[in-house]
Amino acid sequence: MSGSARPRPSSPRPDASEPGWLVEVGRAALDLVVPQRCAGCGHPGRAWCTSCAALCAGPSLVVAGAAGCRAAALHSGPAGRAVVAFKDQGTRRLAAPLGDLLAGAVLDVVADLELASGEPVWLVPIPARRSARRARGADHMGVLAARAARRLRSLGVAAHRCAALGHVRDSLDQVGLDRAQRQANVTGTLRGAPVPPGLLVVVDDVTTTGATLAEGIRALRAVDGRTAAAATVTWAAPRRHLASEVRRD
Ligand SMILES: [Zn+2]
Repeated sequence: MSGSARPRPSSPRPDASEPGWLVEVGRAALDLVVPQRCAGCGHPGRAWCTSCAALCAGPSLVVAGAAGCRAAALHSGPAGRAVVAFKDQGTRRLAAPLGDLLAGAVLDVVADLELASGEPVWLVPIPARRSARRARGADHMGVLAARAARRLRSLGVAAHRCAALGHVRDSLDQVGLDRAQRQANVTGTLRGAPVPPGLLVVVDDVTTTGATLAEGIRALRAVDGRTAAAATVTWAAPRRHLASEVRRD
């Protein structure tokens, strides 16, 4: 990353105009005083235990039906419970282990594409709806993308977070919708912004059918024709994929 003329990726900034920052401060304080249990298995000690970390280690999963997408772990396991705790219960200490899991999935995407050494990798998070961000008190995917980028840089990959996706309009909740309905629900909801040269990887916490990731990829392609890959922390795989069909190659 030596080109000084390139736009710099955005950095997370607290927005004091949103009441959510108070929620964030409160949660951070609670994290310091409330005894910790592992979000993956409930074992007392820390927010993410070594056993759960070991269970989620190893090659990432190939997300069926979502071209070029990898997930670090299944959503039905400890990583999925940790994603829910981080996103919906505000367990901020999970940012590091979940960001590191996301970094592992991105690393496998980079390997899949045989990226040239030194080429930048731009992690583009799926943005939370404004109402969700306010309720959670933080841009949780922005936090995970930044952590994943930091982890990748420590491994020698020139990765940075780039907040290049925004909402045009809100979609409905995807719960209960089938694949076609999910795609129709999200199509046209995101818009992209220019990203400096390099590999684009759309990142999210969890994917089910890949519809939201596909919308992010579409929105980025509409800017300059570039095709993005995708990576998530977890994959809510349909039951038919939960046995031997899950590929870790
Ligand atoms: Zn655990």
